Amino acid sequence: MSGLELRDVTKLFGSFRAVNDVSLSVPNGRFVCLLGPSGCGKTTLLRMIAGLEEPDGGHILLDTEDLTRVPTHKRDLGMVFQSLALFPHLTVGENIAYPLRLRRRPKAEQRARVAELLELVRLPGIADRPVAKLSGGQRQRVAIARALALSPRLFLLDEPLSALDAKLREAMQIELRQLQQRLGITTIVVTHDQREAMTMADLVVVMGEGRIRQAAPPVEIYRNPADAFVADFIGTTNLIPLKGGKLLGAPLAGATEGMVSIRPEDVVLTDEGQAPVTGRVAFVRDLGATVETFIEVQGQTLTAASSPRHRHRLAVGDAVGIELPAESCVVLPA
Ligand code: ATP
Repeated sequence: MSGLELRDVTKLFGSFRAVNDVSLSVPNGRFVCLLGPSGCGKTTLLRMIAGLEEPDGGHILLDTEDLTRVPTHKRDLGMVFQSLALFPHLTVGENIAYPLRLRRRPKAEQRARVAELLELVRLPGIADRPVAKLSGGQRQRVAIARALALSPRLFLLDEPLSALDAKLREAMQIELRQLQQRLGITTIVVTHDQREAMTMADLVVVMGEGRIRQAAPPVEIYRNPADAFVADFIGTTNLIPLKGGKLLGAPLAGATEGMVSIRPEDVVLTDEGQAPVTGRVAFVRDLGATVETFIEVQGQTLTAASSPRHRHRLAVGDAVGIELPAESCVVLPA
């Protein structure tokens, strides 16, 4: 297969398995987000792909070539770290040209490439500016331009946007994705932000405790999470135990035991007595775009989300009917 392939990759720190038997195929041109809670092994996995960390087991292949023992500088990749690692005393142009200078490319070629890359990241004409005088978003773009200077086969980024404020960060997510699509470069980004992953990725790889818990397109992960860990990590969900074919005491066709995940937007609220289950409103949160209602039912709190157009007059303490449509219930292993 052409693309990146991880085969049973493992990394130990002492006896601790930071990355445990990870296998993954990424066809060329895809945008992959490694997603998971702190300490799940995503940075270690990225560092192994980069050649900054040597696996204790398994293989890393790019276009069928085994890179497992190939040093970083021979892997044909561009990297951006959270710290960006720009040289503060150099200009924008000198920073971007740095990898070209290391390879002793002619001066004229360096200048032309810098201009081209600055166009690409939408900062035309600022090559002579000191990096120290740029804004956070501009620095981000300069770091991206430098990483792409040698037109690598693989583009690796570790939490590249986490230092930016929320608004700029969202804008940069879209920009990064558009840039990747224009270039068609295989890209792997580490993030702990599920919204960021869903904005950018073709393939979201959810990790937990050193293992891949699920690897699938974003909407597939959201709609059909593989287990409760994934369901809870991606967006907000209600996890309700299924016992003897009954969900909160009401029969659910099909499965008998397990854990049911149902998204807040799929929970239907009706008048008391009009649905098989009744609960009591504990809190209402009106976020403008959506209204979230927290309902206590049989010792558990459920969240229902609705559009403000259906903003109903529920108040704390009200009794409310709850419908959990079977087609929205995903049954997971308990
Ligand atoms: P974060 O989002 O917090 O960076 P992560 O998912 O990227 O988390 P890693 O940095 O890959 O996690 O770390 C995975 C585990 O391996 C953690 O428990 C970490 O403490 C441990 N670890 C990472 N690097 C080393 C090291 N050089 N020596 C010992 N333990 C390490």
